[in-house]
Amino acid sequence: MFDYLIVGAGFAGSVLAERLASASNKRVLICDRRNHVGGNAYDHYDEHGVLVHKYGPHIFHTNSREVFDYLSRFTAWRPYEHRVQASVDGQLVPMPINLDTVNKLYGLNLTSFQLEEFFRSVAEPREQLRTSEDVVVSKVGRELYEKFFRNYTRKQWDLDPSELDASVTSRVPVRTNRDDRYFTDTYQAMPLHGYTRMFERMLDHPNIKVMLNCDYAELAGEVNYREMIYTGPVDAFFDYRYGKLPYRSLEFRHETHHAEQFQPAPVVNFPNEHAYTRVTEFKYLTGQEHPKTSVVYEYPRAEGDPYYPVPRRENAELYAKYKALADATQGVRFVGRLATYKYYNMDQIVAQALTTYAKISGEKRSVAAAAPAVYPVGSNGNGTRPAEMPKAL
Ligand SMILES: Cc1cc2nc3c(=O)[nH]c(=O)nc-3n(C[C@H](O)[C@H](O)[C@H](O)COP(=O)(O)OP(=O)(O)OC[C@H]3O[C@@H](n4cnc5c(N)ncnc54)[C@H](O)[C@@H]3O)c2cc1C
Repeated sequence: MFDYLIVGAGFAGSVLAERLASASNKRVLICDRRNHVGGNAYDHYDEHGVLVHKYGPHIFHTNSREVFDYLSRFTAWRPYEHRVQASVDGQLVPMPINLDTVNKLYGLNLTSFQLEEFFRSVAEPREQLRTSEDVVVSKVGRELYEKFFRNYTRKQWDLDPSELDASVTSRVPVRTNRDDRYFTDTYQAMPLHGYTRMFERMLDHPNIKVMLNCDYAELAGEVNYREMIYTGPVDAFFDYRYGKLPYRSLEFRHETHHAEQFQPAPVVNFPNEHAYTRVTEFKYLTGQEHPKTSVVYEYPRAEGDPYYPVPRRENAELYAKYKALADATQGVRFVGRLATYKYYNMDQIVAQALTTYAKISGEKRSVAAAAPAVYPVGSNGNGTRPAEMPKAL
């Protein structure tokens, strides 16, 4: 008899399995229909020996010390600040748009003050920011919107930005300085030995049994448990009673090149006519040294694994109906991005799982304080603080 059946071995399921097993001494069975743990964050060495992310690049960043400390029990870190360039008008320029982007694109030599003035002169003020187009055009004007955002968004969502909620681009930062980091979070680092190794350590507990290649439906009637934690798609759980929740999917085309380096940046965005949206070169992310290099091209698709919930009002209304069903279902907790139909970053899912555990156990959410990190914050695995880590760590 298990105390918990956990469906899905991604961040949501694995954090809850670890907490329930090691902090509450519960017996946990965790299953995943894929042949690996880690969910979408799964990484592995490809046939050439290069560490790649099977489901597209996963960059860890958070402002939560609690989340970072918690994960530090299972991995050492490699400091890593992500950078992206966009291929526009035959040039590679920094993304998000900053001072260097505009100067390089137009052959100018503006200062920050002059760039602020430039944005003011081209911006098209909107009374209400309803759509993604409104958000961008009201900040940087129509020309930069067309060059950097319009086609990228159309490819990604198969919708024009004018048809998409403002929320899709509302977090797109535009900078008037030369900061070319993609994220500005306090903690930016990659698991030193990869995500999969971190998940394996998380699940390595005598109270946890892991079953792979196993859809939870196959276990019905075969396994006894007291409660279920479900991290799969909420509409599938209820047999699509109200219809399918719409998602955008991606096809990942992985390639290996017989060269040390393929492109001059970790990610190059293609906001133009190419069918793919971006190309990622993994060695930048992982720090691996290897004579070959592996990259992945991302092709947005209508069909396939569910990756991005489509943020439109009618979909939120459909999800609300499933949420009402989920709330009324005794003995099952719905956790994670698929079960709550929302795009979350990894750190947000870890925080959501820690909050769920706190509710189950009645403890305050102070896991990080309760036990010291196995790998002290900022550690690079050999006990020294890497020079590049911000002082705050
Ligand atoms: C292309 C892409 C890039 C991303 N990049 C980043 C990034 O750079 N930084 C970041 O912070 N976040 C990123 N994310 C988000 C990140 O992937 C999620 O935050 C994280 O994976 C969510 O974890 P989860 O456990 O909720 O879901 P998942 O990782 O999807 O895990 C759910 C698991 O449940 C399993 N499952 C589903 N149904 C069943 C069933 N019936 N039976 C058994 N198992 C089942 C699935 O196989 C899956 O393994 C990215 C997401 C995508 C799609």
